[in-house]
Amino acid sequence: MSSKNSTNDEIKEPQKRFFRQRAHVNPLSFNNAFEYPSCPREFQEKDMKKLYAFSDEDDEKRSKKVDFLDVGCGFGGLTVGLAPLFPNKNVLGMEIRMKVTEYVRLRIKALRAKHPGQYGNAAVIKTNAMKFLPNYFEKGQISKMFFCFPDPHFKVKKHNRRIINYVLLTEYAYVLRPGGLLYTITDVYDLHKWMGDHCESHPCFVRVSQDEIDADKAVPVVFNNTEEGKKVARNNGKKFLNVFRRIPDDKVPL
Ligand code: SAM
Repeated sequence: MSSKNSTNDEIKEPQKRFFRQRAHVNPLSFNNAFEYPSCPREFQEKDMKKLYAFSDEDDEKRSKKVDFLDVGCGFGGLTVGLAPLFPNKNVLGMEIRMKVTEYVRLRIKALRAKHPGQYGNAAVIKTNAMKFLPNYFEKGQISKMFFCFPDPHFKVKKHNRRIINYVLLTEYAYVLRPGGLLYTITDVYDLHKWMGDHCESHPCFVRVSQDEIDADKAVPVVFNNTEEGKKVARNNGKKFLNVFRRIPDDKVPL
């Protein structure tokens, strides 16, 4: 066996059972538990090179900035599904749970070892995505944001913990480029409607046509690759998708 192979064999995919953690966390009580960058430049200068693997070739094809966000990435199925499909985009999973984040980090490390030259554009960070997003990303930097099977927070008094709301949509609109897309998918119809209604009532977003959704190569990954999505499929559940476009600032109605 070559030394290269033995190195690859040593980096095994992590086993999920060692990284399980209480399913629901309160995103409103995590205020001081994370170190947030003070500004996007700090994040780019300090963290990008640590998170992603760049080759000389990438310098021309791939920017040194994050392009796609998998918000609440869980065990990372979407992040690692999108990365090889969009090799010139940097995909970032954002996850609040520590052990789950560590699982995704090791999963990406193992995939890079197993598929040399691939997955260098996938990364994960532990953070509360409901806080300080503009400290990570510049205005108009992000081209796609995904919210796959977000925690439903069923009780009305807990709706303020939902990751789609009017105020947060304003932050998402800030980091999304004009024409950028925001995707939500869930098996909970009420939550689907909540997310769709909030996006529809926000002046910076318009619903994307079904034709465009059908032609979007990210959509099958959104439906099929996440761990929650697979669980829903195993239970013959339905999945509900919304896709909204960030409209340019000069088209936002006053
Ligand atoms: N998107 C994944 C999927 O479809 O398999 C995971 C879905 S899981 C139901 C929701 C995930 O969002 C959990 O892993 C949870 O820890 C994470 N999460 C919840 N609130 C968050 C926040 N404010 N910031 C980052 N992650 C969050």
